Amino acid sequence: MGRVTVFTLGGTISARGGDASRMTGAEVLAGLGAPDTDIELRDFRRLPSSSLSFDDLAALAHEVRETVAAGSGVVVVQGTDTLEETAFLLDLLCETGEPVVVTGAMRRPDLPGADGPANLAAALTVAADPRCRDLGVLVVLADEIHAARHVRKSHTTSVTTFASPGAGPLGTVVEGEPRILLRPTTTTALHPLSFDPAVRVALLTLTLGDRGELLEAIDSRYDGLVVAAFGAGHVPTWLVEPLEHLATRVPVVLASRTGAGATLTHTYRGPGSEHDLLHRGLIPAGPLDPAKARLLLHALLSTGAKSPTGYDRPGITAAFAHLNGTGLA
Ligand code: ASP
Repeated sequence: MGRVTVFTLGGTISARGGDASRMTGAEVLAGLGAPDTDIELRDFRRLPSSSLSFDDLAALAHEVRETVAAGSGVVVVQGTDTLEETAFLLDLLCETGEPVVVTGAMRRPDLPGADGPANLAAALTVAADPRCRDLGVLVVLADEIHAARHVRKSHTTSVTTFASPGAGPLGTVVEGEPRILLRPTTTTALHPLSFDPAVRVALLTLTLGDRGELLEAIDSRYDGLVVAAFGAGHVPTWLVEPLEHLATRVPVVLASRTGAGATLTHTYRGPGSEHDLLHRGLIPAGPLDPAKARLLLHALLSTGAKSPTGYDRPGITAAFAHLNGTGLA
């Protein structure tokens, strides 16, 4: 079994009952007793995961890349609120020639049934196992092994909150051993992307009766937009022209706010349908949920999909299509 480097970032697994302070990385690891894995600790941040910044994540990705290149598996321990975003971003930015696993906890260490130690132990097992290499970044909680590209937090308090709608987990941890049942057909990104924290991508979730004020506010502040649209990719008729206009200047990705399933391309016609919007220059997110679509667009714009004269619409479209389940580049 290989060496594992553990990056602790804070979150519920490190929360104290009585105050807002967080445990040190060493205190978090102490919850495990004496693990038989060879562990190196990086006490990286001590934050609630809602306060992790893009600078924090860019620095984390840099260290994870170097750690993997040096031959160590990785476990990232953080709060569950934004865990799926960290995991997906690492998936876009890092090779997984050694396993890279993200985990956390739903119950504070001082509460009955605290799940942190079990999740951490399972994550270490996966990260130390050569059979879990090259699966992309993994998320391990409640003895389930999920692919970063599919996994979502689906419940505010349940210890089984992490689910992969439309895909299911890649495997499980049984008697302290990973059992991989499925492998992704393609890597998440065609090649590792880069990430510039200065790029600005907005996410706009539509709700009934939206009159477009927030869309107007996108203005020239952003380098790209993800629209979390209704159903399979639908918007009100009166937002079609503003979206078309915006898409002449910056990439506008059409995602679904439903929480599972892919955006369609040619089932509905007429103003505001997915067919109409894609014809007017929007880019389909396919099965990527809005928060992940935002990170993919951010990474693509950081990696040269943007130029002073416009943006690489075919390149961005191909990068999203790559994840649509056809396994095609
Ligand atoms: N679940 C929260 C998080 O994601 C809890 C916290 O504030 O520690 O970090």
